[in-house]
Amino acid sequence: MQICVLNSGSSGNCVFISSNGTSILIDAGISCLQIRRRLAAIGHSQEELAAVFITHDHIDHCLGLPTLSNHNPGLAIYANYETSRAVERTVSKSMKPGQTFPWANFETGDSFDVGGLSIETFGIQHDAADPVGYVVSDGNAKVGVATDMGVATEVVKRHLRGCDALVMEVNHDLDMLMESDRGWWLKQRISGRNGHLSNEQASELLSSICTDCLKVVFPAHVSGDCNTPELAIGTVRDTLRSLGREDSVRISPTYREAAGELIEI
Ligand SMILES: [Zn+2]
Ligand SMILES: [Zn+2]
Repeated sequence: MQICVLNSGSSGNCVFISSNGTSILIDAGISCLQIRRRLAAIGHSQEELAAVFITHDHIDHCLGLPTLSNHNPGLAIYANYETSRAVERTVSKSMKPGQTFPWANFETGDSFDVGGLSIETFGIQHDAADPVGYVVSDGNAKVGVATDMGVATEVVKRHLRGCDALVMEVNHDLDMLMESDRGWWLKQRISGRNGHLSNEQASELLSSICTDCLKVVFPAHVSGDCNTPELAIGTVRDTLRSLGREDSVRISPTYREAAGELIEI
């Protein structure tokens, strides 16, 4: 299985996963042009994509969808019903007149196969229509993708436990958030139950889901002004060290304006 986080953070989210002859994206929150360029840089192409899975309707997760769908009429777009309706409202201004998306709607909690991949869906806590995380498996390896959540619920932990790779939110340092010049309301939103995971919460989550299977962690959705890459990576490293896994789990950085490395597990 190949995994590449093409972009991560409030600037746009997009994760590429490929195995068993099936290539997919989780979210399309950067422009179609950037998706195409970044896939080409890792030896893949937009044309090979079988499906894109949307986590929720915020613009940093669906910005590129109208153009991507327009260029790839055969591309299936998976989301639950509430998210699909809300995405159409979010990107309505960039849809072509008369454009419709070929939605493949599922119920949150459903599991299904797409090509050579098995997909699990699970609900997460976030201020969106009906946000979800995904676990993608090819029968040998499993990757969990869970960002944009205010708390890591037992449901989230149950799905992420046993994954070989984790694209997991390490959003903000709570002190930096509180000292930032953001308004009181926004601070409450980000740190609340429907906001984003702090470094401390991400550490607790990682501690509770890390198993012997885990090989790589992608610290994701790192805030640009309420966190630093060093703090986010340091959080994951310290957590792995406390679990005795510092040397056996790779930490692969994600970027707000660039693709990370292509990882093969
Ligand atoms: Zn987001
Ligand atoms: Zn969001």
